Amino acid sequence: MSFLTGRTRVCGIIGDPIEHTMSPAMHNAAFETLGLDYIYLPFRVRREELQNAIAGMRALNIVGLNVTIPHKVDVIPLLDKLDPLAEGMGAVNTIVNDNGVLIGCNTDAPGFLQTLRSRGIEPEGKKIVILGAGGAAKGIAFILARAGARLVILNRTASKAGGLASQIAQLYGKSLKAMESSEGNLAEALDGADVLVNTTSVGMVPDVGQTPVPAGLLKPGMTVFDIVYNPRETRLLREAKAAGARAIDGLDMLVWQGALAFEKWTGREAPFEIMKQAAVKALASEK
Ligand code: NAP
Repeated sequence: MSFLTGRTRVCGIIGDPIEHTMSPAMHNAAFETLGLDYIYLPFRVRREELQNAIAGMRALNIVGLNVTIPHKVDVIPLLDKLDPLAEGMGAVNTIVNDNGVLIGCNTDAPGFLQTLRSRGIEPEGKKIVILGAGGAAKGIAFILARAGARLVILNRTASKAGGLASQIAQLYGKSLKAMESSEGNLAEALDGADVLVNTTSVGMVPDVGQTPVPAGLLKPGMTVFDIVYNPRETRLLREAKAAGARAIDGLDMLVWQGALAFEKWTGREAPFEIMKQAAVKALASEK
């Protein structure tokens, strides 16, 4: 890139696999737009190389890294500090190198909350049904509980939903419902729900014909937020719109997690729309 200089600050992402990440496109577009002397690179880091990679971050004075699968949990003991959100969730997706002190942060769940709020939805007091109990569900459940939502968690593997619910209950001292995601339980949970959040990978490429919720359970007035972003319009969202529900796709959440990391590294307001355009373009070129 033409703007590289001796002062260029380096950011990047570590994960395995890493080939399909849209983060370099988003961040480099943002750096270029704001004229910042920064570059963002993808680094494939195998599990057994994680420790060396973090030592390399220190040695090379890399100013910021995003962390993706499979390192979000394993990276924690290699860092100097955690912000309260990363500590509570037990997962890091962003590292800030503050003059040699590596601080682990989490911008995934705040990206979700920011997206919800940008659509005028404030979680406090709302009945929110979370489908899934994997890595993404954990952060979302954590941040929604903190924001005062009334949560119900359903998952194919009921024990994982129960485990997540008791973790949240321990942190916030309030009990929440956890169930297996059978049709009957879904119908019960969705009765009177304000928001349904799909955090499962059901409906994601290549299985785009699948949906985690029967169409008949989707109601007008409900907001359906599918965090899957490939494709942007999943079968669930198509059926939600047809039922008169409001649909939110997963792309804004992805862009917000990047925008919030960008702000931590640069201290500048992220150009959200530029980052989103870059993500849309990167997503299209994947096809
Ligand atoms: P994960 O930890 O592997 O969890 C996967 C979840 O999906 C589990 O609850 C799993 O249920 C459920 N699931 C998978 N296949 C299923 C099936 N056939 N039927 C029913 N449930 C099924 O994955 P993750 O990291 O949480 O990611 C989940 C999805 O969120 C992915 O599509 C990912 O791309 C998306 N995501 C989006 C963003 C964003 O910024 N928009 C961020 C993170 C993740 P079991 O527990 O029963 O296996």
